[in-house]
Formats: sequence, structure tokens, C-alpha cells
Amino acid sequence: MWSEIIRVVSKQQHFILTTHANLDLDALGSELALDEYLRSLGKEVSILNSDSVPRSLRFVDPERRLRTFSPSRHQSKIQRAEVIFVLDASDGWERVGRIGRALAARAESLQDRATAICIDHHPDPADFAHLTVVNPAAAATAELIFDLITHAGGVLTPSIARWLYLGILTDTGSFRFPKTNLHTHQIAARLIEAGVDPTQLYKEVYEQHPLQLVRLKGYVLNSLQVGGNGQVAWCALDQATLKAFGVSAADLDGFPGLAMQIGGVRVSLLCVGTAKGRVKISLRSDGSVAVNGLAAQLGGGGHPSAAGATVEGDLAQVTAQLVARIEALLEVRP
Ligand code: 5GP
Ligand code: MN
Repeated sequence: MWSEIIRVVSKQQHFILTTHANLDLDALGSELALDEYLRSLGKEVSILNSDSVPRSLRFVDPERRLRTFSPSRHQSKIQRAEVIFVLDASDGWERVGRIGRALAARAESLQDRATAICIDHHPDPADFAHLTVVNPAAAATAELIFDLITHAGGVLTPSIARWLYLGILTDTGSFRFPKTNLHTHQIAARLIEAGVDPTQLYKEVYEQHPLQLVRLKGYVLNSLQVGGNGQVAWCALDQATLKAFGVSAADLDGFPGLAMQIGGVRVSLLCVGTAKGRVKISLRSDGSVAVNGLAAQLGGGGHPSAAGATVEGDLAQVTAQLVARIEALLEVRP
């Protein structure tokens, strides 16, 4: 499945890499690893994302390769692109945020269009790219980038190994989510052979938080509500609380799954009021029920056991309605 992509890569010179809005380390690690590999072949590569890198993830990009899309600054670059890689996002051009429209125009241009290549591990891909590799069994897009680079005969440099490991570490919840399998661990072993220090990377991701973020975690744990016969746990976090703790909504990685620590909880819900007055919904499940269908009904998506969406509405109302829908999904009484 990689040969066609490898053939396109060998023929072209100008590349753009992008990913979904609400950046995470699988998205960024996959981009940075592919960027370094392509540049090792002498290609000209730009990573352009709709969102800027949240403070908590900036450590991943010491050389500042990641750029936030600006229509005026990047239009000529997009015009020159011959290949556009869309990583960790297969829901279509809207999923990549503000830059989506400009990239879609370049990929759909009647004369001399760029080749759009989608590589992702989310289920139910949209038909928007010219070449698509989507494997929902992969625990992270970084696993697929590992496969691509190794199939192409690329070298796993220490930095490529580090970025791919960070993607896998975080998207598997430290090797514990249901998609973690033998292949995931085999890849991790290859990355450790290539120079990754698992303890060091764990510390960089999970043990460098500001005090206020850890205190906010305590607040969320204290505010958890449990219903549906003990099978649903939820928390609503408003902007005022985020402001009081000095934490941004982009830095809440790991929070949606906190309630899964409670025995008997099958679905956990975190609703966060955003700065734009919307509600960002995060759903997690223990694997006994798929929550991505519910997220898709709300205009979002995701994996069976980790999904999300952003909706308009009042935080408390959205939360209450969702709890009711989850209880219906689980066929439990409130
Ligand atoms: P999180 O709750 O951590 O933001 O996201 C969990 C999962 O749901 C991720 O796989 C993410 O890609 C997916 N997800 C979250 N929000 C959205 C959304 O608005 N649209 C889509 N398609 N997927 C989302
Ligand atoms: Mn991912």
C-alpha cells in the first residue's frame, strides 16, 4: 500500500504537511518525523497547521519547523506544493481547520493540481484525497509513518524515532488503550533500538506540567459526577474555572479519561466551555461500547473508545443532554 506513495514522493520536490485542528502529539510527531525523512531526501517541505502549538507541546519542536497557517504569508507556498500530506485526519478538508479550503483548492485545481495523500488511523475516512492509507487498527498515525519510512528504506534517526515514539506513547495512553497490540510494541522496540529513552520521553510529556494544571486535575477529580448506575462519569469545566487556574483548553490532554479510573465506569465525558462560547466534548469508553457514533452525530468523530466534537450551546445543557444520550446508549437508567 505504500509503493504508490513512495513513487509520488520520489518524483516530486515541494511538499506541504498538515493535520487536524486541536493539535496533539500523534499529529505533531507524525508531521515532524515525515518532515525530517522527506528533507533527508532533499525535498522542500513545509509543515502548515491551522492551530498554533499549545504551550505544553512546544518541547516537541526545538527547531521550530511547525508553522501556523497565515493566508497572506503561505499562499505562494501552497501554490508551489506538488504533494499535500494530510496526517491523522481523514474526515475531509474541514477537519484540518482554516487551512483546509486553501489546500482543497490546490488539490482540486484543474491545471497542475497537487496530489493529496491522507494517512490516518481513524475509522470511516472521507473520500477527499488522491491517495489514502487509513488503518483503524493502528494505535497511532505515527505507527503508519513508521511503516512508510521503513518501507521506503529510510533511516530511523534518533529524532525521527523520538517523534514517532511520542505519537505512539500519547495516542495509546502510555500503551494501555484497546488498539495497543503486538505491532505497537514491536515498533516501540525498533524506536528504542534507534535511540529512544522511554523514561525520558515519559517525563517530558507527563511530568513537566505547571503546578496549576495539576491543581486543575484535582479540581476535575473533585467535581466528577457519576450516574447511569455507576457506568457514566462526567464533568463540565467552564471558561471562568480555566481562567482562574490559568490553564488553556488546549492543555487538557489526559483529562477526559480521568474518570475511567473508577471501577464500573464504562463511559467518561468531559465538556469544556471554549473561549468562543462553544462546548468541546470529549468522550472515552472502556471498550465495551463505541462512542464515536455519538460524536459523529454531533458533527465530530474519533475512535470507538476516544471521540469528540465541538458544538454550540450552553455548557450545562449540553452536558445534561449528553449524559442522557450516553445513558440511552448504555441502556441504563439515570
Ligand atoms: P479529544 O477528546 O482528546 O479531543 O479527541 C479524542 C478523539 O476524538 C481524537 O481521536 C480526535 O481526533 C477525535 N475528535 C475530537 N474532536 C473531534 C472533532 O471535532 N471532529 C472529529 N472528526 N474528530 C474529533
Ligand atoms: Mn492519532
